[in-house]
Amino acid sequence: MHRFLLVVAAGMLGSGLAQAQVTEDDLRNDQTVTDQIVTNGMGRDLQRYSPLDTINKSNVKNLVPAWAFSFGGEKQRGQESQPLIYDGIMYVTGSYSRLFALDAMTGRELWQYDARLPEGILPCCDVVNRGAAIYGDKVFFGTLDARIVALGRKTGDVVWRKKIADYKAGYSYTAAPIIVNGLIVTGNSGGEFGIVGEVQARDTETGELVWTRPVIEGHMGTFKGEESTMTGELNATWPGDLWKTGGGATWLGGSYDIETDTLIMGTGNPAPWNSHLRNAGQPRPGNAGDNLYAASRLGIDPSNGEIKWHFQTTPREGWDYDGVNEVIPFVDAAGNRRLATADRNGFFYVLNADDGAFVDAFPFVKDISWAEGIDENGRPIFVEDNRPGDPSAAADGAKGENVFSVPSFLGGKNWMPMAYSQKSGLFYVPSNEWGMDIWNEPITFKKGAAYLGAGFTIKPLFEDYIGSLKAIDPMNGEVKWEVKNNAPLWSGVMTTAGGLVFTGTPEGHLKAFDDETGEELWSFQTGSGVVGQPITWEMEGEQYVAVLSGWGGAVPLWGGEVAKKVSYLNQGGLVWVFKVPKQLVSAN
Ligand code: CA
Repeated sequence: MHRFLLVVAAGMLGSGLAQAQVTEDDLRNDQTVTDQIVTNGMGRDLQRYSPLDTINKSNVKNLVPAWAFSFGGEKQRGQESQPLIYDGIMYVTGSYSRLFALDAMTGRELWQYDARLPEGILPCCDVVNRGAAIYGDKVFFGTLDARIVALGRKTGDVVWRKKIADYKAGYSYTAAPIIVNGLIVTGNSGGEFGIVGEVQARDTETGELVWTRPVIEGHMGTFKGEESTMTGELNATWPGDLWKTGGGATWLGGSYDIETDTLIMGTGNPAPWNSHLRNAGQPRPGNAGDNLYAASRLGIDPSNGEIKWHFQTTPREGWDYDGVNEVIPFVDAAGNRRLATADRNGFFYVLNADDGAFVDAFPFVKDISWAEGIDENGRPIFVEDNRPGDPSAAADGAKGENVFSVPSFLGGKNWMPMAYSQKSGLFYVPSNEWGMDIWNEPITFKKGAAYLGAGFTIKPLFEDYIGSLKAIDPMNGEVKWEVKNNAPLWSGVMTTAGGLVFTGTPEGHLKAFDDETGEELWSFQTGSGVVGQPITWEMEGEQYVAVLSGWGGAVPLWGGEVAKKVSYLNQGGLVWVFKVPKQLVSAN
């Protein structure tokens, strides 16, 4: 009897010491299992929707801080990360390629990993990181020198560290990786340096490459170390050798549609920005000047990296309208499986989830100047006069005709993720109303140097606001409500079954809105601009909300007249965690 008890006790002790392991089931069920968040997007479909309703419209006003944590140091730059929660631990990345493991209940630091970055890294748009990934007994994140690192989840010790690409050529990495069936999938950043966008999948155990998929036509993919298939058809839509430096950075990571087993990645601007150098400055027969597959969404087979479908939001791209914004699988009000994406170019697209085929598109910002609309095939109806002019046609050959383009190159919506509510059926889109003066210039490629061939100045469109949080009905593009914000919005959005929409502002507030009316129900001043991605989860029966505070990102660096307008905002680096105290949950 005693021996039996001893054996049972030892067995329990053994299992207690064994590390909890994140499995494919954990990733698959991330949206519905509410006491952990193990994926970017709170589910690989990136809906950022929580079924939790403990915090709701009536009690959100009682939301108060539970704890805060400072990233410390002098590296207070844009904090764009989304925290993960697992096994009572928060995993959160900070600016300059740092990863912190914190006790999720108290905020106490368990360990910290600081990547040792080399001199000469070339991040285009601030030294941000957008989050980690977690699988098995490891936590993973990308670093600004274009590497991916696997750390022991409990210890922070390096298990493996691999080079995605050469940082000296302008490559970097800022996205949260995505994990599908034991493979960790990464993109790359560097579209302003004439790099080539690529998607890579690695074994999470060893870091060994399984497949690679460059996203510009003419480049060869690989599978298990051997050449696989060419992307597209050589010189079908790119002239000469320009495809070799064709851009299309896959810098925002991807989503995963489990119903079709499809990884969906977006691709950035073709390089250089000067479209006249890419045969794209004027219409060509067929799709000859389209520069595939830049400024596109790609459906990819996650097992081998083969492209299943593509949808190009901006063919003949000439305004830096990167096509990287997140693609969210959802079921529409008529029961159809769809994909939604709000593009930099100012249009909100609905695609068929089975094959990426175009269904519908609506403008989601005002006064779009470069296109009149989107035709029945999903192709923009260009306003040719509103394309920045060809410098080789100018008298001095130095500067093409300047045009005022809306949206600005920072987009009707940039990287900051929208949310989809299964409760309301609406998308909550963080958008910006701004334009730019833009002109083209001659440019030649030089490794590691900016490869734009364009100049620009961003300008506000309206006196009193740039940011615009919109609730959009994906059935018809109707804007159900809009909340304006003085500074450009740069924070992710989250929505809950409690009828709430959370997002942050550069002015420093985390806010909660009524999902049906847009009424502001709660706000909290975090001390610096919020450009992070809110999350919510539950621990010991209580619902928590967290967000990072720390102003930065692309706007202060590239925002032209808008940057001057927001130059008063202070930098920072904090994790804030909130809850409604138990005794106030039912209070009104
Ligand atoms: Ca770009």
